[in-house]
Parts: sequence; structure tokens; C-alpha cells
Amino acid sequence: MNSFERLPKKIETQLPVFFSSGLDISELTLSCPACTGLISASNCTGIIARPLPDVILFDLNGLCPGCGTEFTAYFRARQVGEKDVVLELINESGNLLVVESQRPSRFQRLLSKIKRLL
Ligand SMILES: [Zn+2]
Repeated sequence: MNSFERLPKKIETQLPVFFSSGLDISELTLSCPACTGLISASNCTGIIARPLPDVILFDLNGLCPGCGTEFTAYFRARQVGEKDVVLELINESGNLLVVESQRPSRFQRLLSKIKRLL
């Protein structure tokens, strides 16, 4: 059984994922450990879990559309303060994967709402 068979669920179907504060992660972009090409959530399978209100775990399999490299990534996103999210890599292989999260759209809508009220 390969890693994609172990965790077959598409990551993009599990996004957005929300912190207890309402802050969300709506998109993920990973960097291929072999060619550094960008890999979107549509090329990843795996599990997203929220074991704590401010911690979201990602256990992913990625397939690079550019070079065909398969890789695994295990990391967590942790909310710090009211609006900052830090991404912490927990990768046993030692490969450094750059993970980006976009500023949550829902949070931006909340911000504009607050500005209108002021
Ligand atoms: Zn690649």
C-alpha cells in the first residue's frame, strides 16, 4: 500500500479549515522537495485534523505535477494572537518544504465589516 492509498482523501475537499476564532486556512501551496515547483492542494491527499481549538494538523501526500515526485509532509498550523498563524513543519525526512497560507478571506471580510462600523 503506497502513501496515496493510505490517505486517499483529497485535501482540497477538506478546505477551508477553521480555527475556533473563525480564522481559516482556505488554500495551501507547497514547494516540491525535488524541483521546487509549486504544488496546490488539488495535487495532495491526506488528512486535516483540529486536535485543539488553535491547532490544525496536516498529514499530506503530494504529487508534483512538474516532475512527478511523490512526497509526504506533516505539519501544523497554530494560531498565535488574534490574527497570526504560524506553520510548523514536522517532517521526519528532513526535507524543508515551504508552506504558504493565504490570508483568510473570512477574516478579511470581518475586518472590512469592523472598519465600516468605526
Ligand atoms: Zn517537482
